[in-house]
Parts: sequence; C-alpha cells; structure tokens
Amino acid sequence: MAAISGGGGGGGTGAASRWHYLDQIRRNPGPFNEDSDVSDEALAAWDKAKVLVIGAGGLGCEILKNLALSGFKDIHVIDMDTIDISNLNRQFLFRKDDVGKFKAEVAAAFVEKRVNGVKITPHNCRIQEFDEDFYMQFQIVVCGLDSIDARRWINATLVNMVDMENQDSLKPLIDGGTEGFKGQTRVIFPTITPCIECQLDLYTPRAAVPLCTLATIPRQPEHCIEWAHIIAWDQEKPFPSLDKDDPEHITWLYQKASARAQEFGIAGVTYSLTQGVVKNIIPAIASTNAIIAASCCNEALKIATNAAPALGFEESYMMYSGDDSIYTSTFRYDKKDDCAVCGNLAKPLAVDPAWTLQELLDSFAVKPDLQLKKPSIRAEGKTLYMQFPPGIEEQTRPNLDKTLKDGLGLEPGFEIAVTDPSFPALTFQFILKFA
Ligand SMILES: [Zn+2]
Repeated sequence: MAAISGGGGGGGTGAASRWHYLDQIRRNPGPFNEDSDVSDEALAAWDKAKVLVIGAGGLGCEILKNLALSGFKDIHVIDMDTIDISNLNRQFLFRKDDVGKFKAEVAAAFVEKRVNGVKITPHNCRIQEFDEDFYMQFQIVVCGLDSIDARRWINATLVNMVDMENQDSLKPLIDGGTEGFKGQTRVIFPTITPCIECQLDLYTPRAAVPLCTLATIPRQPEHCIEWAHIIAWDQEKPFPSLDKDDPEHITWLYQKASARAQEFGIAGVTYSLTQGVVKNIIPAIASTNAIIAASCCNEALKIATNAAPALGFEESYMMYSGDDSIYTSTFRYDKKDDCAVCGNLAKPLAVDPAWTLQELLDSFAVKPDLQLKKPSIRAEGKTLYMQFPPGIEEQTRPNLDKTLKDGLGLEPGFEIAVTDPSFPALTFQFILKFA
C-alpha cells in the first residue's frame, strides 16, 4: 500500500480556495455516489441541512469548527455549561475573557466570525428541556458529550421519534467520546442499527465497585482511594465536611489510601490520582479530542454527501487507542433483542431470593447494562417501590428491607418493570430468575 502524502497547502487564497477541495467532493460523482448526489438540488438541500451538535466542550469545539469547514451552513449547539479557566488549554474557541460565559454562545460566535456563511444557533440549556418537535428539525445529530446519562437520553429520544411512515423522522446519531488517550466514534441509525443502550455494557460504571470490595479486598489503587473517601472519612471525620478543592483534605485521603494500598501490596496511589478519583475527573487530551471529532465530522460529511460509505450499517463502532502507540479498529456490534430502547424482549434477571429489595435496587446501579441510580420497581403490575411522589415513596419504603422471596413473595417467571427518572421514556422489562 502506498503511503499518503500531502493533505497540506491548498493553492490560492480567499473564499473560493477555502472550499476548493470540498467542492471536488461535493460536485463530482465518485465510486460510491451517483449523479443525483451531486446535482444542484442535492447541493441546495445540503446547504439547507440542519445539524445539531450536543456539547460545546473539548469535543464540541472541534466538532463545530470541523462541521463549519466541511460546508454545513446551519448548525445548532446545545450546552448548559459555562466556561471555566481550566477549559482553556484545549477548548480553543474560548479565551480568558470568556470565563463565566456560556460555552454554546461563545463557541457559536467564534466559529461564525471565522467561517463566512455559517449560521450557528446556541442553546444554553439541558438537552432534556427540548421535546421531539425540536429534535425533528435536524438531519443529523452529533454528540460530543462526557455524560453517559445524556447520551442515553438523546438515544432513547431519537429511537422513539422514528415513524416508519416518515423517512425524515430517522435522524442519524454520531457519537464521539474520549477518555485520556482513548476514544471512540459510533454512528447509529435509530431502530435500524444497534443503539447506544444496546452497547451500554461497553462502559463500566465509574462507581461500580461494590462497597464490600472497598471494605474487604481492594485490588486497584482506585479501590483504596474510594475506601479512604467513602469509609475512612466517614469513620474518622477528620474535618467537618469534605471539600474536594481543599489540598489539606485531599492530602488526608491520599495518606489514608496510601497506607491501605501498602497493606494490600497495591502500587499506584498518588496525590493526583486521589484528586482525580475523588473529583471524578476524566483526563482530557486535546489531540485525542481532535482525532475523535475529526472522525465524527467525516462521518457527517459522508452521510450528507454519500461520497464514501459511512460507519453504521455494517460496522458501526470505531475505537481509537493512543495508550500504547496508535491503534484503531472498527467493528460490528449487534443489536440486542432485549434492549430497553430498541428491542422488544424482556431480559432475564437473575437474583438471589434472599436479597432484600434494597439490595436488588442497589445492584441496578452497578449492572453494566442498566446503570440506574434512582430505580422504581413493579412486579406483575404491582408497585414494590417508587421513588416519586413522596407519598408513594413513604408507603412503599417498608418493602426495601423485605427479602424478595419470603418477604415480598416474588417467584421465578414474574415480570419485573423498572423505571428511572433520568430516562422517563424507558421501562426496563425483566423476567425474574432465582440464582
Ligand atoms: Zn438498542
């Protein structure tokens, strides 16, 4: 295979030369598209296409810039966050004077100023504040998020919006994610290809370490830090309340965690790791964000132009790892029939009949394919526990201490339904099994 050279200096100056290479792709049919894809109508339709970007942080800044330079002219961006001084090393659309302002607003104005002819509409709010009518206006949704809950929410919303009679209701979802030197890009065609919920078990929940592991057999430096954070702090109360920004408090946790790590022969507890675990900081690397954002925007360009096959229908998942030299791989992930969002089968739920209801609910937080923090539960249509409203919570609270079989009378084969306020559109269906 020949090495690829170039990709560099475009000839000429001025507005026309900026779009010269892009226009070659837009205006000429290639092996993957047809004359109709490069017709005046298709080009005009593309000029009108609306793209939604979710997140204006590390990935979002890159995505907005890339989409604008890929010829998308009508872009909306949602982000509820304001700019912090610590963002400035990589979120390159922000300057010191912008600290405290809304990310979406500043990012939109910056890109509009630099790329003539693009319109970027900012929304300084949560994605949950918009309804289906809002999401319906877009042709493509690109996510640069660091929250799994937000991804699950937009995924469920886009899957629910699909109306088989209306082709426009199907919105391709391009999802980028990074963590340190690792990243991934996924393309989802809602209801047709595996959705984010189908792939949820690829994320190990962050706080997934059971308390008993922390208390008895730590295996990793993070376990020792969590032990100091959750258990030792509570027992010894060295300061009235934990301030995660106070170096004295972090030092206390660091020393406690180090001592415990030594006891169990575990290496790797450092001050900065302690700070990271306690503050739940995901390390952000500017170049990883740039690589993943670039691949997300290439997929958007391919979907919009048909110039080359996009991720999605065959292989839908591209992972990138820069941890140990550079490695990428693209693979196929299958749709799950028992996916709570796009499937229609109940999942088997294996439980210990001697568990209390509270133990069962706690297990939902750490199960990789569920990750629910505030579950409510019904069995065979009967409410066992509801988080809301307060009156019903109080009525059902005594059930939490009852055991599943003897206390609540649950039997194998019972239909269990679980809901969570983070995903109002979803009901997780299970068939109970005793382990
Ligand atoms: Zn699914």
